[in-house]
Order: sequence, then structure tokens, then C-alpha cells
Amino acid sequence: MILGIDIGGTNTDVVAMKGDNFEVIGTFKTKEFDLRKLKVEYEAVGIGIAVWFKRGIIVGAPNLEKIPFIETEKPRVLENDAKCFAYYSAKITGKKNVLSITVGTGIGTGIVIGGSLYKGDGLAGELGHVFVGGRRRCKCGGFGHLECHFSGWAISDIREKIENGTVYNTRGFKIFCRSVATAVMLLNPEVVTFGGRIGGRLDESVLCSEISKFIPDAFIPEFKVVKDDFAVAKGAAMLARDTLQNKF
Ligand SMILES: [Zn+2]
Repeated sequence: MILGIDIGGTNTDVVAMKGDNFEVIGTFKTKEFDLRKLKVEYEAVGIGIAVWFKRGIIVGAPNLEKIPFIETEKPRVLENDAKCFAYYSAKITGKKNVLSITVGTGIGTGIVIGGSLYKGDGLAGELGHVFVGGRRRCKCGGFGHLECHFSGWAISDIREKIENGTVYNTRGFKIFCRSVATAVMLLNPEVVTFGGRIGGRLDESVLCSEISKFIPDAFIPEFKVVKDDFAVAKGAAMLARDTLQNKF
């Protein structure tokens, strides 16, 4: 059994992968999570975590106050949470060129090119920290980033605003759509997936029509909202399985 863990700014989700099937272990508060306290037997673990990795080293964690205890003697794969979501998105859509955006406490981005996760020098895909305007200070230390306009921390009561539809009239949402359109023009993905506790609740048809306004017809990809709070955890488990082949 492979454990899949998603450590986000607020919540930590855990699943168990047996063969191709997933079982939800639970959701914990990130500040209280401790891998040693999970009373489950596992052979390997994949961990998606909201931090920036460069050549395996953590170089930033804008939306994580403290990294929980995640040491283990078992084989382990650690990866940025949005990259795990992109990996999962490629698997469930069957597409080889995928742009994936997570919106939760912050904004994460994952890119799959030709069926492989694209990392650049480690940090590729940080649309949330692209400058889009304004002077608001970002959690990363910069200012005017996309995340300052549209994210769980930037818009109060964003979940309620999604439920009653008012979020779609905000300037933040328009800026978000414009930014995604820019990334689409750069990468020409077959599908753009949205996930996370906020992104996974956005309306697929509104996203499609708003983003498509900024894209020439020939470039318009599929848009898919992945309504699964455990998608990152599942992607982390899949990544561990595929990365650690024959090592456990
Ligand atoms: Zn930033």
C-alpha cells in the first residue's frame, strides 16, 4: 500500500493507494499533522507539499507556517503539491500536455509536457507569483502577484462567494482568468485542470468562457474542474509508485 499525502496551507489530506484504488484515510489540520501518528501500515509514501523545491531542497514556503513531521524510514517521494495535481490530472484525462492550477490558500501551478512533469530548474510553474499589478504585499515577500488578487488568503469568504456566484464579478477573478490565458498561450496545453479546495469548486463553464475571451480560437484547450479534494494526495501516491518502481 502506498500512502499519498497532501500538505496544504491549512489542511493535510491522506489517502491509501492499493493497486489502482484509493481509500481516504482522513483530513487533518496541517499544524497538527505528524506522519508518526498515522496508524497505518505502508510500503512507500508520496507527499505533495505547498513548498518550493529546487534540486530537492526547500527554498520557500509562502503559505506554510511550519513544515509538519514527515520523516520516515520507508521510501518517500516529496514534490510540490501543484505538481502532484498536474501528474494526477494527466493520468485522469489521458492527456500528455497539461496545465494544472490549484487554488486553495494560495495558487499553485503544475505543468506536464509530453507526458512528463516539467520542473524547469525545480520551480517551473508559479503563476501565482507572477506580477499582475497593484502594491499589495504577497505571502512570498513580493508584491502585486496574482495570488494577492485571487486566492484563499486574498479574498475573504471566497468559498461563499463561489457558492453564490459573486466571485465571478470580482476584479480578482478577471485577473486570474487573464493570467491563465497567458499561460495557455505560452504552453498550448490540451487541457487546463483546476483543483484545490477553492479551484475545485469554480464553475467550469464560467472559467471556459472567461479565459477563452483572451485566447485565439486555435489555442483554446479543454477546461476541466477536478472536484476532488484528495486529487493532490492521489497524485502524490501515483508519483511515488512511478518514481520508486522496484524500490520497495
Ligand atoms: Zn508571491
